[in-house]
Amino acid sequence: MAKKEILHCSFCGRPREEVKILIAGQESHICEGCVEHAQEIVQQELELGGLDKKGNPNKKLVVKKPKEIKAFLDQYIIGQDDAKKILAVAVYNHFKRIVQKPKANDDEVEIEKSNIIMVGETGTGKTLLAKTIAKMLNVPFAIVDATVFTEAGYVGEDVESMLTRLLQNCDYDVAAAEQGIVFIDEIDKIARRQDNPSITRDVSGEGVQQGLLKMLEGTEVLVPPQGGRKHPDQKMIKVNTANILFICGGAFDGVNQIIARRINTNAIGFNVNKELQNYQRQNLLQFVNAQDIKTFGIIPELLGRLPIITYLNPLDAETLRSILTEPKNCLVKQYTKLFDLEDIKLEIEPAVLDFMVEKALEYKLGARGLRSIFETILTEAMFEMPGGKETSFLLTAEYAKNMFEKSKMSMLKVA
Ligand code: ADP
Repeated sequence: MAKKEILHCSFCGRPREEVKILIAGQESHICEGCVEHAQEIVQQELELGGLDKKGNPNKKLVVKKPKEIKAFLDQYIIGQDDAKKILAVAVYNHFKRIVQKPKANDDEVEIEKSNIIMVGETGTGKTLLAKTIAKMLNVPFAIVDATVFTEAGYVGEDVESMLTRLLQNCDYDVAAAEQGIVFIDEIDKIARRQDNPSITRDVSGEGVQQGLLKMLEGTEVLVPPQGGRKHPDQKMIKVNTANILFICGGAFDGVNQIIARRINTNAIGFNVNKELQNYQRQNLLQFVNAQDIKTFGIIPELLGRLPIITYLNPLDAETLRSILTEPKNCLVKQYTKLFDLEDIKLEIEPAVLDFMVEKALEYKLGARGLRSIFETILTEAMFEMPGGKETSFLLTAEYAKNMFEKSKMSMLKVA
């Protein structure tokens, strides 16, 4: 007599008589307990990831607390604590504002957008901060350069094209794009300047600033999906910018003097000269405020839509040294991995790192230059070693100096 098959759940193994429902698949079964469990897992996964690829409207945007946001930023960015804190709070409030549920007794308090301006020398981590926040939140992110924008009618790009970039970065998922982050770099280059020598384009930059106003505040914009003015027939996509977070960055060359002048003027009559001198020796940018940015040439209306101002410190030797070794995907880890993939163990003498920092400062290359210096020093080894017999490579200070001096880079020294 054939043995009777005992039905059981293929996931937890419980037999038929121990479960209420057993759903049959083609070659397996699942019980009601496992269905429930699987459902929970799916739900958790969707919530953890924030937006899924398609920006599915029923998934929840998980807002991390400011401390968690800062801790995440700390993994990738060295120092810049003030900027990190201010950004963490601004981003938290911004996304809290998006996910807030309308209360029954709505008190009509409307939380306004917290668009941000970051002031800091080039290469101090402004873009990196914005990018890292977008990565953490898993929302669409676009970087645009304010210098390409011109007032409508001039040669160049319309401000709407920044939303084209955002849409392209999320496969034209409008719902996802409407909760995205746009980083506008070089915002200082569209400042109103009396002495602007350009006659070929929007002379003052003010037209572009005007163009940005509505977009930053929140409005419905018709966006050309292919961007530019070259495709006049394209069907426009409507994007509401009310929940898009705009983060602007700029070096604002010369703002130091404006700050110094303001502090000096305000200090008249007070005996704070000693403190003032200390201020001046330190990074003056830490005192930057809206008034300084206005004096620099950003129109007050635009400033009103960028209520949060923060600054970044210039990078000193110690910070540059940490940038090489500490962040989660720092250069030392990246190059070690590159060698590792060839089964070669890369070891770097600490003096090599000091040498690279020294050169980055000497050649005024900043953090961005560390990568090219690294590349210059290791190119020869990365060319010769793959496929060879060596299983380790000790990068000594002497080798590094030698390679650097032989390179074209060493000719680039700024006077
Ligand atoms: P900015 O936008 O201010 O001009 P970026 O954010 O593009 O500068 O920085 C350039 C590069 O320098 C980054 O990709 C990063 O590798 C490095 N970098 C700059 N500042 C930092 C920092 N504080 N911590 C870690 N890396 C940094």
